[in-house]
Amino acid sequence: MTMAARDGDGWVQCDCGNKHWGLNGAAGILILRGDEILLQHRAPWVHNGDTWGIPGGARDSHESVIQGAIREAIEETGIDPAFVTAIETFSDDHGNWRYDTVIARATDELIAHEVNDESHEVRWVEIEKVDHLNLHPSFAKSWPALKEILNNLIGPR
Ligand SMILES: [Zn+2]
Repeated sequence: MTMAARDGDGWVQCDCGNKHWGLNGAAGILILRGDEILLQHRAPWVHNGDTWGIPGGARDSHESVIQGAIREAIEETGIDPAFVTAIETFSDDHGNWRYDTVIARATDELIAHEVNDESHEVRWVEIEKVDHLNLHPSFAKSWPALKEILNNLIGPR
């Protein structure tokens, strides 16, 4: 058996005027547990470092959005995907590049921890407190829409 090629790494000069990581686009996973989400603090030396965002990264050409997002989350936070159920996907489409956020629910058994150098710290953050953190610029842009989806999933509190 051969390992599938990791062919997604590289920069794209985007129609929006910015450069983004991920030749086939990128995907991340927003994991909801109770009224908290899993965020990771990115190391200062990575692109847009020293900010909070969701686990994610470049998607390979042979991967679905969900596969890419879950693979990145395993690599970065060591989660066991058995405890995660994908619910829906939110797309931030820039034209020639897009970032897909898989919104997923986790059971209480899910344990996450920083497992590689790109990730400083992982933390469960209450939805209402996410705005207090220094967010990764792309995540910050999508957060108001994502927050609305999450609040609809949770229902009235
Ligand atoms: Zn763009």
